[in-house]
Amino acid sequence: MKDSNYLKEHNARSLWHPMAHPADSLKNPPTIVTGGAGVRITDVDGHEVVDGVGGLWNVNLGFSCQPVKEAITAQLDTLPYYSIFRGTTNDAVIQLSEELRDFFEPDGLTRAFYTSGGGDSVETALRLARQYHKIRGEAGRIKYLSLKKGYHGTHFGAASVNGNQNFRAPYEPLLPGCFHIPAPYTYRNPFNESDPAKLAQLCLAALEDEIAFQGANTIAAFIMEPVLGAGGVIPPHESFMPGVREICSKHGILLIADEVITAFGRTGSWTGSRHWGVQPDLMTTAKAITNGYFPFGAVMIAEHVAQVFEGDETGRAAIGHGYTYSGHPVGAAAALACLAETKRLNVAENAGARGAQMHRGLLALQEKHEIIGDVRGGHGLMNALELVSDRASKTPIAKPAIARVQEVAYEAGAMVRVSGPNVILSPALVVTEADVEVILTALDKGLSAAAS
Ligand code: PMP
Repeated sequence: MKDSNYLKEHNARSLWHPMAHPADSLKNPPTIVTGGAGVRITDVDGHEVVDGVGGLWNVNLGFSCQPVKEAITAQLDTLPYYSIFRGTTNDAVIQLSEELRDFFEPDGLTRAFYTSGGGDSVETALRLARQYHKIRGEAGRIKYLSLKKGYHGTHFGAASVNGNQNFRAPYEPLLPGCFHIPAPYTYRNPFNESDPAKLAQLCLAALEDEIAFQGANTIAAFIMEPVLGAGGVIPPHESFMPGVREICSKHGILLIADEVITAFGRTGSWTGSRHWGVQPDLMTTAKAITNGYFPFGAVMIAEHVAQVFEGDETGRAAIGHGYTYSGHPVGAAAALACLAETKRLNVAENAGARGAQMHRGLLALQEKHEIIGDVRGGHGLMNALELVSDRASKTPIAKPAIARVQEVAYEAGAMVRVSGPNVILSPALVVTEADVEVILTALDKGLSAAAS
């Protein structure tokens, strides 16, 4: 391999990074990751750390999952690619669909439509939602509702339902007909309400109000993450998602659960929807479906929605949507192996226990560090700190200070993710008690350095 300086220089010269200013990689060269084993990564300088990010919320089984590597290799040897566009299919994708049908049966989801990742899954769900209404003769239902602070990807459709200006403003105008309601974000909200149960009711009332304002018969779908992830890990009160389900059903609006992060155990339940006792109409998945070993995703479809499509005799249900890599046999083989390991290791249970440990540790850090304004999580391995320069005024922390948290935590043995004023912790679901302690200790050092 080329040396570290060569790689840094050429990285800055010849590629742009997602979610970064193009000039930044020269000023602040990114960490060059050269290896991954278990839940640890190694960089080009030989420094090894516990990955507190889990890749990008996706490497739930860690980097050494041998059955997945073997499944990929075996599939490459047999059939490296063939499309599943009308007229052809493959063995791996059929087997996977049967497995997913069993896995998601408690969520009421019985059909799969395959994609190459999270944004593709969101795009697919948004499009299928409109088509569902057209098939049923309600062609006027074209709008989408979503939550402020929600993150759904960066395709035009996904970006249009995103609730964070950073991902919207540079690319406007976005898709017309997308409207946002306040998120149940207890630390900061327009109602000044700090009680999660009361805030959930206020947000639900805002949803009802927006539906009345737009006209229910103009709305195709409401999309939400069961626990908001990239927006800073915002778990709603337990009454929120059931309340959304009730309102959507009352008004004939499809509920899309965006479970790109939460499906396959991250919340401590097998899906985020199940965590809240809700059955969505469509569910987007990606990330942990293949653990990052292959780009892949699936939209899961509720039985009653599937029946509307399958029972159509007008031709309106013909699906004019799909990707070259929909149902990719290597992705499907990887997903089959991931699902088997996910179930065998019962990772949801470990996510619950280790997530609770992490949350307790973060609350203890808040006692010690004034710059921790808010600690969020408590639902599996999705946890975050929101940092402030002043607790009373809740002034967000300055960029260099939070960058310092990350830098020092890394030197001290853990990769943590920084996004705006938030430090996000989403390690693999197979982390041990000791791994969590390494992350907390490293973070403690980072926080001390940022405050000094
Ligand atoms: N939805 C959610 C909830 C996500 O967290 C993400 C990615 N973090 C996406 C959609 C988009 O996924 P991708 O980056 O694979 O397109």
